Amino acid sequence: MFACTGYAAQAADAKLAPFSFERRDPGPRDIRIDILFCGVCHSDIHTARSEWGPSSYPVVPGHEIVGRVAAVGAEVDGFKVGDLAAVGCMVDSCQDCSNCRDGLEQYCENGFTGTYNSPDKKTPGLHTFGGYSKVIVVDQNFVLRVPESLELAAVAPLLCAGITPYSPLRHWKVGPGSVVGIVGLGGLGHMGLKLAHAMGADVTLFTTSPGKAEDARRLGANHVVLSRDPDAMASQAARFDFILDCVSAQHDINAYLQLLKRDGALVQVGAPSDPLPVAVFSLIMGRRTFAGSLIGGIAETQEMLDFCAEHGIVSDIEIVPMQRINEAYDRVLASDVKYRFVIDMASLPAAA
Ligand code: NAP
Ligand code: ZN
Repeated sequence: MFACTGYAAQAADAKLAPFSFERRDPGPRDIRIDILFCGVCHSDIHTARSEWGPSSYPVVPGHEIVGRVAAVGAEVDGFKVGDLAAVGCMVDSCQDCSNCRDGLEQYCENGFTGTYNSPDKKTPGLHTFGGYSKVIVVDQNFVLRVPESLELAAVAPLLCAGITPYSPLRHWKVGPGSVVGIVGLGGLGHMGLKLAHAMGADVTLFTTSPGKAEDARRLGANHVVLSRDPDAMASQAARFDFILDCVSAQHDINAYLQLLKRDGALVQVGAPSDPLPVAVFSLIMGRRTFAGSLIGGIAETQEMLDFCAEHGIVSDIEIVPMQRINEAYDRVLASDVKYRFVIDMASLPAAA
């Protein structure tokens, strides 16, 4: 084991504060990564505050990690010291169930190991600590290659906010001619706009924030609808093949189901803590689908990074020092982020 520094929440109502802990030494198949940047996902806040059920404290959040390889185990192939490397929301899975064999580790039948707040099968008795820290040690199967052509800090959010829209856009075969809605212009939503636009879709943003309309067009939206305007919503009825809902809080899902064409799909990726009631008649009328989707598998995450390199896509970011994380959380909760905070890990001392 070796000592590592980071920031942790010690309780649901505690602010994040400096924290020292131990990580395992790299085993034969492990990669040790010096973390350079880590994105701030709304899931970090849900977890730090136990909004999805009780978390295991201390919580060191962070699952949008980019850095440089500092050491590799003897059996590691494909990475060497000095390479850029990235880690997303998972650091382990059984690798043996049918979902893992299909490259869908996020649906591992035995439960994947989350990058933070998961029981750590590799260090029994401990739970995982995420990317708000100087260093991480990860099995090579869960380490991604970072395209050299992209701005590194702005790549970090792709590891969650990029793959989470990319996977359902691909699964539901969005492409040229598709009429797509993106709900909520935050971290996931802004990547949803960029990716759906790059895939050739006609894209509409639904937002509660009138001040984001101009940005939305720059990010790839063909149209912007203010979702709190009932007339504007009514004008969109039965227009969409596919809607991606990226909203982190309670809202009326039926208002969006009405906007689907026959056989259209509304895919929920935003994860509010309370149930979203669905009116059955919103589905029956028009054979509509209401579905969910969780991040993406490792191979698909690499495919997404390569797609982003090919299309010159990165996240729009605001870089913050580690010491300002609590202020960043307040601003995420106020929908005041354009459009992802990224922590510059150089701001965090290597020793406590
Ligand atoms: P975010 O940056 O905070 O964006 C959420 C957006 O939702 C806001 O910018 C806002 O957009 C909209 N919104 C917020 N409160 C609202 C309200 N009360 N009513 C209507 N709209 C509201 O969050 P994020 O990091 O993108 O994450 C979004 C959600 O996805 C979170 O719940 C997160 O946990 C979840 N998530 C899920 C997955 C998955 O695999 N399924 C992966 C990552 C994250 P406007 O200002 O445009 O209205
Ligand atoms: Zn996330």
